[in-house]
Order: sequence, then C-alpha cells, then structure tokens
Amino acid sequence: MPDVWTHLICGREVLKPVREDFREMARREMKLFNFGCQGPDFLFYYNFLPWAGDKRAVALGNRIHHESCGLFFRECLKYARTSPGEKSLVYIMGLMCHWCLDRAAHPYINYISGICRGDRPGEEKLVNNHKRVEAVIDSVLAKRFLNIDVRKVPVHREISLGDNLPPEVQALYSHVLPLVFGADCTSLAGAVVLNKSYRDMLAALRVLHDPRGVKRLAASLYDLVSPRVANMRYYFYGTPVSDPEAYLNEGNRPWCHPMDPGEVHHESFPDLFRRGVGETVEMINLSLRFVRGEAGEAEIGEKITDISHSTGKIHSDEREMVHFVPVLP
Ligand SMILES: [Zn+2]
Repeated sequence: MPDVWTHLICGREVLKPVREDFREMARREMKLFNFGCQGPDFLFYYNFLPWAGDKRAVALGNRIHHESCGLFFRECLKYARTSPGEKSLVYIMGLMCHWCLDRAAHPYINYISGICRGDRPGEEKLVNNHKRVEAVIDSVLAKRFLNIDVRKVPVHREISLGDNLPPEVQALYSHVLPLVFGADCTSLAGAVVLNKSYRDMLAALRVLHDPRGVKRLAASLYDLVSPRVANMRYYFYGTPVSDPEAYLNEGNRPWCHPMDPGEVHHESFPDLFRRGVGETVEMINLSLRFVRGEAGEAEIGEKITDISHSTGKIHSDEREMVHFVPVLP
C-alpha cells in the first residue's frame, strides 16, 4: 500500500538522532510507534470498500489532518502530562512523525500529482494520482533505506498490534478529540469506531499485498470495463519505475506551492523528507520537555501551531490548491 512505507522509514530515521531515552522507549513499543507514524490515516480505512456506507470516520480523519493540528497535539501532550504512560507517549510521537513529514512533503506531492475535484473536464485522469505518486516514492525509499521490494514484503505486520488498539491509545483519542472537534465527535472517538478503523486498515493492507501481481492485473481489467473512473490498479504496487527522477526531483528543478505560483521551491523529495525528520526530532524533544514539566504551555503554544498536514500552511490560510504540473500522463 502506498505511503505506509515512507512513513515507517521516516519514524526509523527520526529514532537515530532523537534523544536516547525516547529512542529506547520507542524500541520497546516499536509496532505501536510504527502505527503512530501512520497518523490518523487509519480512519480513512473505516469501511474502506467503496460500497460500504458510513464514512463519518473518514470525515473525522480529514478534519484531524487539516483543522486545528496544533491544538490537537497540544491537547495530546497535556493528556500525556497528566496521564503518564509510555504507550500513549510513544504513540503521540509517532503521530508527530506523520504530521511533520506530511506537512513538509505534501505541497510537493500535490504539485506533481494534481488534485482531482471531479468537476473540471479531463480531470478524471487525476483520480488516484496522489496514491500513484506515493506508491512510486514508497518503493524507491524502501529500496534505498531498507533494501526491500515493497511488492514482496507484507507491510501490515509492521503495524499489527493484535485484535484491538491498546486501551491507552483509545483513551487518548476519547479524551482529546471531543476537546478539539466538539462533543458531536464523541461517539466517533469511542472504542468501536477506532478499533474497527484499525482492523479495517490491517485488512485492507492484507488484501493489497500482492507479491505475484495477480490482484493488480485483475484491478487493471476492472478499470478497463468499469463505467466510473476508479483507477483501482493504483492501490497496488506496480513494477518499479526505471527512472524515478520525475518523482524525486533530485535535479532540483523548480516547482511551486499549489496555493501560490509565486512561492517557488527547488527542494527534492529527499530534501523534504530530511526536513520532516529534522522537524520531528525538534518537536519530540520539546514535547518530552513539556510532558516532564521542563517546558510550559506558552512554549508549546508558540512552536506547535495549526499547520495543515496537506498544505503545510496554517489552517486559516484558505487559498485553494490549484497550481500543479502532474508528472503522470
Ligand atoms: Zn496522513
């Protein structure tokens, strides 16, 4: 499944320079840390089959990605300060890895994949481009960092925590989500929805594991005859691309923020990845100082702000992401 590996590798890279006490704590709870590195994405898998009805958990996952990210993390840290426990702390720091990598890399990913809103002519070719781009990046990074072929290694094992989420993680969400998003998300923040989302994520990753490419082939045939553009095949890893430069930009060609054609960047994907890792390390160090009473609310309020996972901008900046040059035909 695209993107899971990149987030796992980010967490692994964060653990190298991060303070030693946290590294040891994370290694004792490695799968939980890995699951934290997947961020709120597990909510996107709730009822993941297109015809399965209720998508409220998906909507909540989107809200956590875009709205009040700073408030969400500050409330998580306040919870960790008053309810100390290794598991919730390791999980929160995993979530921070997800946030820092997403906000650093998503403007670029969106620029090279485009965003399909479905209301413009010819846009249907953009359906699942984001997934397709992230799948390529996943396979390149997994080869470079871990020397593995993502088609062959079942990723769900890296984040498998048993039948249910640990009670500490459930308790964290049940406390924090209503504080940040209001009382109307109380039922969504309960054990039933959280555990089902987690189990649905593992089930989806198991289904998408396709070491012989048979399922991808079937999905390609479905795409050919499907009346609606779904581009289902892009959910499966394909043959590695021979030249990933169009995805990685290691030649540092200019690109712009999708919200602002005047904001020109030259970073490669690996540059953005390194930035995400560095920012996470700083944030974890600050967070641990806060949880241990060595930093105050003013300091986390100043440094942990409402930056959206998908735009990398403060959430109140409502400009639309409309400037992109998709790399894919
Ligand atoms: Zn995410």
